[in-house]
Amino acid sequence: MENSPENCNVKVALHIRPLLKQERRNGGEECLDVVPGTAQVLMGSHSFIFDHIYGGGGSPSSKMFDECVAPLLDDLFQGYNGTVIAYGQTGSGKTYTMGTAPKEGCNRGLIFQVMNTIFNKIETLKDQIEFQLHCSYIEILKEEVRDLLDSAVIDKLETGDGHPENAVPGKLPVQIRKASDGAVSLSGSTEVSVSTQKEMTACLEQGCANRSTAATDMNSQSSRSHAIFTIILEQKDKNRGDTNSNDNFGGEEYKCAKLHMVDLAGSERAKRAGSEGVRLKEGIQINKGLLALGNVISALGDDKKRKEGLHIPYRDSKLTRLLQASLGGNCKTVMIACVSPADFNAEETLNTLKYANRAR
Ligand code: ADP
Ligand code: MG
Repeated sequence: MENSPENCNVKVALHIRPLLKQERRNGGEECLDVVPGTAQVLMGSHSFIFDHIYGGGGSPSSKMFDECVAPLLDDLFQGYNGTVIAYGQTGSGKTYTMGTAPKEGCNRGLIFQVMNTIFNKIETLKDQIEFQLHCSYIEILKEEVRDLLDSAVIDKLETGDGHPENAVPGKLPVQIRKASDGAVSLSGSTEVSVSTQKEMTACLEQGCANRSTAATDMNSQSSRSHAIFTIILEQKDKNRGDTNSNDNFGGEEYKCAKLHMVDLAGSERAKRAGSEGVRLKEGIQINKGLLALGNVISALGDDKKRKEGLHIPYRDSKLTRLLQASLGGNCKTVMIACVSPADFNAEETLNTLKYANRAR
C-alpha cells in the first residue's frame, strides 16, 4: 500500500518576490496579479493555478514552511525521503527562498527552518531514539557532480572550529553508482557527521563558498550549477524489544531517510543571459537537467500515466538520476517556482509559470 504510486505526492508553490528597489528605479512595474483568496495568478491574458502562492516581502514566511516543508520533515522522521526544489530564472529568489547562502545578509530561508525543526524534534525524542545526522552538499555543473564538502572540510570540522578556511573544494569528481536494488548513491561524495545545528550550518556555509558562480550580464552572482544540500537522518529504536517500545517505530529497528534541498541553476535561456562559448555550452547542459526534471515531475504528477505504469525518464540527466530515490514512490516533492514580478522579466516569468504548471 505504502509503495503504491497513488501515494506519490508532488506539490507546486509559486513564490513571487517583491519588486526590488533597483527594478523600481529602472521603471519596473508589477505584471502579476494574484486573485484574492485563491492560489490563482494572472499575467495579462494568462491564468495559472498552483497548490499555494506566496508573495510580498520579507523572509520566506513560516506559512510557506508550515504548508510546504513541515510535512516532509514529519515523513523524514517516519523514514521517507523528500525533496524541496527551487526553480526560476536568475534573480528570481531561489537562493533567498531556500536559504542556501546563509551569509548573504540575514535572510533565514527554508533550510534554516528545516534545521531548527529537525534539531528540536531530536531533542524531544532522544530518550527513545538514537539519532545520527549527516549532511552532504554537491553541485552539478556541465553534467558533472562536484563535492562541495571534501575531506579537507571534514578535517577542519573535526578539529573544532567549524570554519575551514584552507579547504580545496571539489578535488574528486563524484560518481553516480546504482546498486543492484536500484538505489542510486554517490561514491566519493562526503557525508559529514553533524550533531549540532551549528555544525550543520558550518557545512552549509562551506559548501556555499565552494559553489561555482560566474558573472553573466543578468546577475553577477548568477549560478550556473544545480546545488543539492542533503540531510541524512538515521534512527535506532533504543527500546527495541521492550514492551514500552516507541509506537512511532512501527516494529522496525532502524530507519534512514534523506531530505534534499535543491537550488537549481537559473532557468533563463542562454541567449538572454548574454552568454557565449563555454558559458553557452554550460547553459545547454544546465537546461538538460531542468528539461529532464520537468519531464520526470510531470510524469509523476500525471495519475493516468502512472497508473498505466509509464516509464519515468529519470536517466535523462545527472540531476534526475541523483534525485531518483527521492522523487516518486512514497516520497513527497515540493517545487517552489520563484518569479520576479517586474514587467521586464515577463518573458522568463511566463516560462517559469508554464514549466511549474506542467509539473503540477
Ligand atoms: P536567485 O538565487 O534565483 O538568482 P536570489 O535569491 O539571489 O535569486 O535573489 C535575487 C535578489 O532578490 C537578491 O538581492 C535577494 O535578496 C532579493 N530577493 C529575493 N527574494 C526576495 C524576497 N522574498 N524578499 C526580498 N528580497 C528578495
Ligand atoms: Mg541563487
